Amino acid sequence: MICPKCKSENVTIQIVNESKLVKAHHSFIWWVLIGWWWTFIKWIFFTFPALIFKIFGIGSRKKIVNTQKRINVCQNCGHTW
Ligand SMILES: [Zn+2]
Repeated sequence: MICPKCKSENVTIQIVNESKLVKAHHSFIWWVLIGWWWTFIKWIFFTFPALIFKIFGIGSRKKIVNTQKRINVCQNCGHTW
């Protein structure tokens, strides 16, 4: 692998998982006003049906697909592509 910027051969390949989940941080006030019941509603509407589906084997063929991305990092000039 040759860097397109400086033509150096000192290049490493990094494999980055694209299906990263970024957790949003909410303020304390948000949790007091909305957070507690919103989490409860979300649990009822998403976790509970998901559990039923799991028990009856519905959607068991579903697969979690992790797409991996290769990032080339030049150790000479720091160029990534
Ligand atoms: Zn380079």
